[in-house]
Amino acid sequence: MVVWFLTGSQHLYGEETLLQVAEDSKAIVEQLNTSHLGSEVVWKPTLTSKDAIRRIMVEANADDTCAGVIAWMHTFSPAKMWIAGLDILSKPLLHLHTQANVDLPWSTIDMDFMNLNQAAHGDREFAYIESRLGIARTTVVGHVSHELVRSQIDVWMRAAAGFHCAKNLNLVRFGDNMRNVAVTEGDKVEAEHVFGVSVNTYGVNDLVAQVAQVSESEARSLAQEYEDLYNVVPELSTGGQRHESLLYSAKLEIALRSFLETHQAMAFTTNFEDLGDLKQLPGMSVQRLQAAGYGFGAEGDWKTALMVRVAKVMGEGLPGGASLMEDYTYHLAPGKEKILGAHMLEVCPSLTTSKPSVEIHPLGIGGKEDPVRFIFDSDPGQGIVVGLTDMRDRFRMTANVVNLVKPDEPMPKLPVGRAMWVPEPDFYTAAACWLTAGSSHHTVMSTAVGVDHFREFARMVDTEFALIDQSTTRESFEDRLRWNAAYHRLARGI
Ligand code: MN
Repeated sequence: MVVWFLTGSQHLYGEETLLQVAEDSKAIVEQLNTSHLGSEVVWKPTLTSKDAIRRIMVEANADDTCAGVIAWMHTFSPAKMWIAGLDILSKPLLHLHTQANVDLPWSTIDMDFMNLNQAAHGDREFAYIESRLGIARTTVVGHVSHELVRSQIDVWMRAAAGFHCAKNLNLVRFGDNMRNVAVTEGDKVEAEHVFGVSVNTYGVNDLVAQVAQVSESEARSLAQEYEDLYNVVPELSTGGQRHESLLYSAKLEIALRSFLETHQAMAFTTNFEDLGDLKQLPGMSVQRLQAAGYGFGAEGDWKTALMVRVAKVMGEGLPGGASLMEDYTYHLAPGKEKILGAHMLEVCPSLTTSKPSVEIHPLGIGGKEDPVRFIFDSDPGQGIVVGLTDMRDRFRMTANVVNLVKPDEPMPKLPVGRAMWVPEPDFYTAAACWLTAGSSHHTVMSTAVGVDHFREFARMVDTEFALIDQSTTRESFEDRLRWNAAYHRLARGI
């Protein structure tokens, strides 16, 4: 994916100035491209007319490789020229408020220099029309040689990649939602309109049929890969009593992968209540696919599967990972309060840098054979959990900044991948706010991207973003939810 760099100017100053504008904007693009940002930046010729601006926006919309556009007004660029173009732009927009020079040329500055380098002036004109038209955009201020500017652009690029992914995402559900559960439900038609994701259900026995097509030799060679990569317990290893279960897990992975490839889907859900003739609830296979970049939600939770996929795309190449997470149980010792998160099986090992162990244990629900799963503790460090809920008239993204910590003591009898964390600003405020928002027990946990990425993504999909962080109080959060409700209802029109 790439983003386009658009430079605004006008003909008033003559050809020489426009040549300099083009040269300067090319230099800025080059500086961005040598900064190892999330996307390559593609320079486009300087825009000086209404028609050229409208046409470049049509092209940006039509180009599937263009994830978004950056706009900068090097000189003054009368903003009525931008109305038609901005009005039709359907890609994320970053308004870069920069200039070619860092220092004022104190001893030589003259009116020619002033006319050439007047983003301070031109960008204000541009921002006026953006605001007047109600154009959602990200504003970044400063010279591109500054680290903070580059990192803000990188965040936006990553969010734009997430937006592009959501807009083009196919999501496969094996079965429906877990029966009677409310929060995993939602309006799939509205979701396709807001996020772009196309959510469709398939019979789980379509997957069973795919499993039957996997050859023994394929399964054996993948099982060997498991033994090479992870700490596989002896009973599951080659020659072990329960090696067949590992082979079946390998078949599940191969079948799932091929089913998803056939349907061009990068996210999926399962439901332990609807496993058809599958012998195991998919555990390690789901964990492996998440680690390979697929979005996943358990119990039919397609909204979380979407968010896991978006987090994977936004965090590509960064240290850390993203996973389906579930708030499971608490440690409530005063002063040591923390949350233990896990799932029945399906937490993604991208949350750890240690080598997971592969084990087999009984599962109390689902009524199937014992499933194979990865077991690990997530790495300590900063993370974020984000829940997506359907509030009837809109979707709400609730985010909580969390600090992952080492468990106080080992948990040798807990056979799942898990994470332990202390939420910001403190356990009591965070949990109360989360409940006040009515947010979900399923979340995406990311240790690769943070608040800024999700906030940018929420802005791009015009979705409520309710953040619980260091500065949150219960009172301010409750007020914010009320304002959000009013804003989002008004913003949709009557
Ligand atoms: Mn669950």
